[in-house]
Formats: sequence, structure tokens, C-alpha cells
Amino acid sequence: MTPDQLRTLVRTIPDHPKPGILFRDVTTLLLHAEGFAAAIDHLADSVSGRPDLVAGMEARGFVVATALALKLGAGLLLIRKDGKLPGATIAEDYALEYGTDRLTMHVDACAPGATVLLADDLLATGGTALAAARLVRRAGAQVTGARFLIDLPDLGGATRLEAADIHTHSLLSYA
Ligand code: IMP
Repeated sequence: MTPDQLRTLVRTIPDHPKPGILFRDVTTLLLHAEGFAAAIDHLADSVSGRPDLVAGMEARGFVVATALALKLGAGLLLIRKDGKLPGATIAEDYALEYGTDRLTMHVDACAPGATVLLADDLLATGGTALAAARLVRRAGAQVTGARFLIDLPDLGGATRLEAADIHTHSLLSYA
């Protein structure tokens, strides 16, 4: 399936989670066996070489990262919300529109020098992906890029990630 065909599988929900927001809902794409597989194939084709790990950000990032890791022959690194991981963790806070949130990673999850590709369902401001990148870099590993099903370019995430030397690629763009 082409990216234009895959776009028809993404549902847009107006006024979620609050008035004025157009929520891009990838659950409808995931329900479509052929569409889900094609979306992951497209993202995998955009990756040159094989990273040691694909890192997914909780929760929808886990879905994209798991499929991509299996496709690329990489390990899977789970970056979770605060208080979820059982072992010793490092944490990074990032700004939300109101307040902050926190991502955590097991302190020994990636070896110094490991190559790590970030993956999530959607890139908006880039705050989530940048916090994940800081965790990976604090461990001494190298962020080789970031992949998303959807980019909202008007919110500037790709520009912020590029400024942090993280090359991004997204399957679909909603301007
Ligand atoms: P950012 O940190 O501003 O780039 O926001 C990206 C994060 O928020 C990702 O983890 C997404 O899952 C989530 N997100 C923000 N907007 C949407 C949306 O319209 N659809 C699905 N997820 C979204």
C-alpha cells in the first residue's frame, strides 16, 4: 500500500483530548493487517544499516518500535512513564502545554556506544522524542535517528530534533 492509501486508514477525531485539537488516531491503521505491515515496511525501508536497538516511548511508541525492531533485526528498548520500570532508572522531564511529564529508562538498558533508533506513533513538538534522546545519550549510546508514523510539521518537532542532530523520517505528514 502507498502512503496515500495508508493516510486513508488514519482516523481524525476532532476536539480530542480538548476542544480545537484534531487528534490523529493510528489505532484504525493498526487494525488493518495489510496497512500496518505496509506502514512498518515503509519506515524500515527508510533506515540504512541496522541499529543495535529501537527505542519506543510509552505507549503507542511501543507498537511502532516493536514491529520495527523485529523487521530490522534490532533489540527493543522500552522508555516508560515514571514509576513503571522495576529496576534502577534514569529520568528526564519534558514540558507539556500545562506542566511537565517524565520518561524513564533502565540505567543499564543500553551499552555505551550502542546505536539506538527512536520510534513513536506521532511527532508533534518533539518534547517526548528529545527527552528519550537525552536518556539514551546519558547512557553513552548514540541516537541514529527517529521514525514516526505521523509528523505534525506545524508544531516544529522535526526541526527541533534536527537541531539536536537527530535525523527524522515520518510516513505521513499532516500540515
Ligand atoms: P510531542 O512530545 O509534542 O512531540 O508529542 C508527541 C507525543 O504525544 C507522542 O508520544 C504521541 O503519541 C502523542 N500525541 C500528540 N498528539 C497526538 C495525536 O494527534 N495523535 C496521537 N498521538 C499524539
